[in-house]
Amino acid sequence: MTTADLQALDHRHVWHPFTHMSQWLDDSPLVITHGEGVYLIDSDGKRYLDGISSLWCNVHGHQVKAIDDAIRNQLTRIAHTTQLGLANDQVAILSKKLVDIAPTGLEKVFFTSDGACATEVAFKLAVQYWWNTGKPEKTTFVGIAEAYHGDTTGAMSVGMTSAFHKPYMPLLFKVHYAQPALESIEQLLLKHHDTIAAICLEPLVMAAGGMIVHADGFTRGVRELADRYNVLVIADEVATGFGRTGKMFACDHDAVTPDLLCVGKGMTGGYLPLAATLATKRVFDAFLGAPHEGKTFFHGHTYTGNPLACAAAIASIDLMQANRLVDRVAENAPNLAKMLDRLRQLPYVGQIRQKGYMVGVDLLSDPKQNRPFDPKARVGARVCRLLRDRGIILRPLGDTIVIFPPLVIKTDDLQRIVDMLYEVISELGFVESVAEKTDDLIAGDF
Ligand code: PLP
Repeated sequence: MTTADLQALDHRHVWHPFTHMSQWLDDSPLVITHGEGVYLIDSDGKRYLDGISSLWCNVHGHQVKAIDDAIRNQLTRIAHTTQLGLANDQVAILSKKLVDIAPTGLEKVFFTSDGACATEVAFKLAVQYWWNTGKPEKTTFVGIAEAYHGDTTGAMSVGMTSAFHKPYMPLLFKVHYAQPALESIEQLLLKHHDTIAAICLEPLVMAAGGMIVHADGFTRGVRELADRYNVLVIADEVATGFGRTGKMFACDHDAVTPDLLCVGKGMTGGYLPLAATLATKRVFDAFLGAPHEGKTFFHGHTYTGNPLACAAAIASIDLMQANRLVDRVAENAPNLAKMLDRLRQLPYVGQIRQKGYMVGVDLLSDPKQNRPFDPKARVGARVCRLLRDRGIILRPLGDTIVIFPPLVIKTDDLQRIVDMLYEVISELGFVESVAEKTDDLIAGDF
């Protein structure tokens, strides 16, 4: 099929996630047909640097032999079998690997398919933990303002991303929202701890909230508060997990073990949908008992623990370890910080936040006054569109430009992303006129 045929099919039938579809339909979509290393290749053979790791999940690049082989090998045996009533080798092997790399004390793994599901499982486990242990009144949560945990109903409730979730507010359950500060969390715990099941946080960095970096020691402080007020800690590491911040998990920066740890995205190296919720023995043991006691966790999905996805995850974790990938991110992060520093000279650049290979660059109409652009101008989306013309795929969060490359990215490719961003921002003279051009073809931003 020609590119035009594929574009026509997409326009006719595909509804894209997080996408302004009327603008999408006015544009010519880029059709990706191949990937190679850190590059995406379109239907005309043009190469693009995958600067967002195919939405924050790719680790080793595309077409990685070890992962390709693991999936092919698994295919010669079985593609899928259920975890309901049956064990399978890939799930067992992967669970052990996850427990070995996770913060000490997380011993049990419950598999799902997407990050949002991993958080839903954590919320249900937290509430049922208290039910099973004789405190059924502990049913609410402390969430952090501007945290994002996914788009299912529970995840939307505990996260607070009004920009995305406004129409669904009537569907959401009540949550106590704290500012990302220990005093704010403690105030809520003081008043409500009797009815609170858990505090849920994205440790170290709130990703979709704009790559907001927490104060040093925040995760440790949350753990201490939770222990003092007898509530659980849910750490959502769907974005920060698997080396992204320069440690295997963001909780490791503070040597914290949460009661429940949610992982997804990078687990399979960005190959196949797989997520998991890890639990401590204390949580798990509360679910033991005779069937008639009603302590069982009645939750599961058809593709839970899919062996193909688990085989990819096993190969990905092995490769991370063989290549010392997490240490390499930690070692190279200061180089990336130096590259980013140059952007600070530019007129529209506000804060630049970075942890490991997670970066947010704020674009502001007047950084000195902290004045944002008119959102209608969609400056972030426009910048990313110009980058696409230069062979770089980035995707903004509003007017925050996100750089989230595959962990294997080489220095010269990182440099190219930052140089191209520098070039495009330098040319932001167009911003004056962009407000009048809001019908322009910018189809994808958050
Ligand atoms: N939690 C965090 C911290 C995330 O960043 C995301 C996705 O960006 C999710 C949960 C939801 O994951 P998924 O899109 O796989 O459902």
